[in-house]
Amino acid sequence: MLVVMKNDASEAQVQAVIQEIEGMGFRGVPMPGSLRTAVCILGNQGPVDDSRLLVMEGVKETIPVTKPYKLVSRETQPESMAIVVGDVKIGQGRPVMMAGPCAVESEEQALTIARLVKKGGAEVFRGGAFKPRTSPYSFQGLGEEGLKILAKVRQETGLLIVTEATDHTNLELVEKYADIIQIGARNMHNYSLLRHAGHASKPVLLKRSFAATIEELLMSAEYITSEGNNQVILCERGIRTFSDNTRNTLDLSAIPAIKEASHLPIIVDPSHAAGRRDYVIPLSKGAIAVGADGLLVEVHHDPTHALSDGMQSLYPEQFTELMKEINNLIR
Ligand code: PEP
Ligand code: MN
Repeated sequence: MLVVMKNDASEAQVQAVIQEIEGMGFRGVPMPGSLRTAVCILGNQGPVDDSRLLVMEGVKETIPVTKPYKLVSRETQPESMAIVVGDVKIGQGRPVMMAGPCAVESEEQALTIARLVKKGGAEVFRGGAFKPRTSPYSFQGLGEEGLKILAKVRQETGLLIVTEATDHTNLELVEKYADIIQIGARNMHNYSLLRHAGHASKPVLLKRSFAATIEELLMSAEYITSEGNNQVILCERGIRTFSDNTRNTLDLSAIPAIKEASHLPIIVDPSHAAGRRDYVIPLSKGAIAVGADGLLVEVHHDPTHALSDGMQSLYPEQFTELMKEINNLIR
């Protein structure tokens, strides 16, 4: 349930409502917005008796929240949310381009690609230092050394850094070096990791699992926000279907569906969806056309020798072409 405060309600009145909710055995989380302030009630199993709340000073009305996810629901916060990291705004504006290799392989590789994608118009550099690989024998990433290289990339290029934390033991390290903490598709159901990320001081890029419904994705986002970190960016990266011409099937319908259900920004990763570089530009255009707030794209200067996901990595000139086509679309 949502307790909507009157426009002129004071901070003390909001705090009194939260205390009353706590007295009822629940949690009250304030949801400040430019249009209204509301307090979201969490932890109730059934309907809440709102009679005590409705008579309180500053309370305008109560609204039932029908979805199982509360804090990330548009019912709770009707205005779309933008996440601001440094000079970059994700959501509510121009789509944000995040680009780079699947994995950080060396300082030279990361800096070479970073300079190229920066020139092409990217604002955020992607690259994994901890890689969740299907085979235990595949390249697992450079670990902290990779994170140090990413910090150098930021220092030299001014690009923001998004990189993945694969479990709660490397989350703090990733938080220290990254601007945005990525939680990958395989970990979307790792509730312990999600809770830990809920205590992080950096925004989280949460990728949809290849077998998750939209509701499950939003419930995972709720795990993060319910711990206090409301800076969550969602990412559609393809789901597993019977169709085998691409690595995954990009679920473009997820974008308007998520925008309807949640106020969180949603970006698209066409690279892991397609699994092949020749589909990345058309899928990116589709993603922007249906309202994605940004793209996460794999780019490599020498994809044939990439240590992971070379097949789906764009050549730098293809990234330049992608940017040109996207700019034509949004102009
Ligand atoms: C990645 O972005 O490098 C990655 C591993 O993606 P996903 O979690 O979507 O498979
Ligand atoms: Mn990859």
